[in-house]
Amino acid sequence: DGLVKHFPITKGVLKRKVGAVQAVDGLTFDVRPGETLGVVGESGCGKSTMGRLVTRLLEPTGGKVEFQGRDITHMSAGRLRPMRRDIQMIFQDPYGSLNPRHTVGGIVGTPFRLQGVKPEGGVKAEVQRLLELVGLNPEHYNRYPHEFSGGQRQRIGIARALALKPKLVVADEPVSALDVSIQAQVVNLLDDLQEELGLTYMIIAHDLSVIRHVSDRIAVMYLGKIVELADRKSLYEAPMHPYTNALMSAVPVPDPRRRGAKSERILLKGDVPSPISPPSGCRFHTRCWKATQICKTTEPPLLQLKTGHQVACHHPENGEDQAPGDAPLVA
Ligand code: SF4
Ligand code: MG
Repeated sequence: DGLVKHFPITKGVLKRKVGAVQAVDGLTFDVRPGETLGVVGESGCGKSTMGRLVTRLLEPTGGKVEFQGRDITHMSAGRLRPMRRDIQMIFQDPYGSLNPRHTVGGIVGTPFRLQGVKPEGGVKAEVQRLLELVGLNPEHYNRYPHEFSGGQRQRIGIARALALKPKLVVADEPVSALDVSIQAQVVNLLDDLQEELGLTYMIIAHDLSVIRHVSDRIAVMYLGKIVELADRKSLYEAPMHPYTNALMSAVPVPDPRRRGAKSERILLKGDVPSPISPPSGCRFHTRCWKATQICKTTEPPLLQLKTGHQVACHHPENGEDQAPGDAPLVA
């Protein structure tokens, strides 16, 4: 609720604060039991920070995080510990996130030791069961990460995340470090595990192709803000934010006539501005082809303009104009 995370920038030995990276700036959203919330946006939009705030790996500068009705925003490490069983994270890099000096058995068994959990039948049997669950061989127990391919390593990371039977799994770019041919396998595995174990997912990705098949709802982020949040069907059939339209036009589709978005490729002008001094008004106005005067001065609130479809734009596509007749923005 209203999540803010600013990272201060300091100068000199006295660490004088000279500015802040506004990584996320006022995010309000929910993740519902059993669903997959996809979060998409270009690198630097704050989506990883959003995932780390939800899992409380980071403490927010402002706003609130509730898990199952409990406020966990400023909970101490000690009080968070039992809750850590319920919220797990899968990381992007299947190489860096596995300790090369530990065996697969040691890695997947770590959560049991950290939490002091003794599974029925012992840790080894439970780890071997988990390895099977993610499509690995129980005999891999004594092997080391370097003996495995990228896709297999990500399966080891998934097994570790599932060890304590979490309720919510936050996966930050779970397949982007993998070969394209392997990506679908890992995405399908996550999908199967969700069904089998009744998991709730938040899956973070930098493009729509990875999350389009697995998400129930999708949040589109731009420069620390959610600009659009909608059911998958609604988002794909009638995207409302110009930025979402641009993202979608970058995803190749087999049949362009079946897409609600503009069928020609939208090329955004310029680069993503710096999150240290984001543009005034609508943060997208420096790159938006629909921008008018109000876009430069007034931030558009995230409003529900259709059932299950929120958008932050003065002039949405496929929806009612919120500032009709406003003068075009002359660059
Ligand atoms: Fe573009 Fe204005 Fe909408 Fe922002 S508010 S996305 S600048 S039309
Ligand atoms: Mg990231």
